[in-house]
Amino acid sequence: MSKHVLIIGGGVIGLCTAYYTAQRGHRVTVVDCASESELGCSYGNAGMITPSHFVPLAAPGAIRLALKWMWNSESPFYMKPRFDSRLIEWAWKFYRAATVEHVTRSAPLILDLNLAGRACFVELAREWGDFKIEERGIVMVCNTEEGLEHELATAELSRELGLTVEILDAKRLMAMEPNLRMTVAGGIYFPSDAYLAPWQFMSALKKRVPSVRWSSTVSLRANGNRIQADIEADEYVICGGAWSSGIARDLKLHLPMQAGKGYSLTLQQPRKKPAHAMILSEARVAVTPMLNALRFGGTMEITGNDLSINPSRVRGIVKAVPKYLPEFNNDDFQDVKPWAGLRPCSPDGLPYLGRFARYENLSVATGHAMMGLSLGPITGKLMAQVLSGEQPSIALDSLSPDRYS
Ligand SMILES: Cc1cc2nc3c(=O)[nH]c(=O)nc-3n(C[C@H](O)[C@H](O)[C@H](O)COP(=O)(O)OP(=O)(O)OC[C@H]3O[C@@H](n4cnc5c(N)ncnc54)[C@H](O)[C@@H]3O)c2cc1C
Repeated sequence: MSKHVLIIGGGVIGLCTAYYTAQRGHRVTVVDCASESELGCSYGNAGMITPSHFVPLAAPGAIRLALKWMWNSESPFYMKPRFDSRLIEWAWKFYRAATVEHVTRSAPLILDLNLAGRACFVELAREWGDFKIEERGIVMVCNTEEGLEHELATAELSRELGLTVEILDAKRLMAMEPNLRMTVAGGIYFPSDAYLAPWQFMSALKKRVPSVRWSSTVSLRANGNRIQADIEADEYVICGGAWSSGIARDLKLHLPMQAGKGYSLTLQQPRKKPAHAMILSEARVAVTPMLNALRFGGTMEITGNDLSINPSRVRGIVKAVPKYLPEFNNDDFQDVKPWAGLRPCSPDGLPYLGRFARYENLSVATGHAMMGLSLGPITGKLMAQVLSGEQPSIALDSLSPDRYS
């Protein structure tokens, strides 16, 4: 039966949900409070499609590292200490989730989602023909032996999960990048990863989802166990990124989340372009060739839903680059306007996908943190299955939006 589905949020998650839902014969409307030209989190990201990122954000060691980085204004992580009950609850739940058992349980699911997501991108690129995916893999680049040790442990886990990895000493790594000078101890190559220019993908996606109402809002209200709104629909889906928990709260639903702010800097005419996308491991800086441009992205600031630019964090990214890629320096970034985006972060590092038990016509797709682009199409596909009353092709039990209620 064809339904009218109303989706709140026109980022990569909302638009992919709209695209795949419409493909199943439903009528779709997307409402986004931002204007079409306000380029949010789904546009300025690092463009990486990441089967290699199967370890959830909440993992052992994350808290120790966070506490170490907290006191350095140019480090890749910061949490603004504040008496906010929602932040305290989120931090406590994050702490509780950061265990070996959680990683062991979640990693295969995150990997499955990412691999299925990658396959969707390849299929869409072939079918649509108006965006390009680079299937060249991503390299984790380390400039210290300690960093390399850490990445080797992840490489080991990758192999156990069946993912192809190549361990590179400095010489082999430099041979992969013959046009670039590098100061490195070694790295890990993940050939199954891929990357793209997110703005190009988003514009291709927008063309196929014409029913977006930009600069619009819709107010949802509960009527018994159903949701109603000024725009009438059979199903409502919250895809509001970092704002989703506020939308859910208005309906008396508990969806703990914090915004994880990150920055990117895009060189339109870079003096050099790597042959692969890379992550400068110790500095947590992503470097992605995007068509003719080169984008550098990083940092995770838990400072609320605030998009202001903190110059110290941006400086942290700029200063890290020449430590690995000495041909770049401060001058390259002089006239570049930093971009900031808010990653929607759940406490256990897993997305929230599926229906809420409390309302029979309300679902959510959010909480993808650092993997929202990578998981965009597979999320859309799974949500379309949920909305059509089908069994999802990947089991969603551990991603239930009710898991903290
Ligand atoms: C620096 C950086 C680098 C990143 N790199 C990568 C990467 O390489 N690979 C990857 O997979 N991910 C990456 N990410 C993460 C990825 O960008 C996000 O996970 C993803 O964009 C989230 O998409 P979304 O659709 O959930 O949210 P958004 O893109 O934020 O979209 C949510 C939309 O909802 C709208 N909205 C909010 N509230 C309402 C409301 N009440 N009514 C109507 N509309 C509303 C907003 O205006 C917005 O347009 C990165 C993020 C950052 C910051």
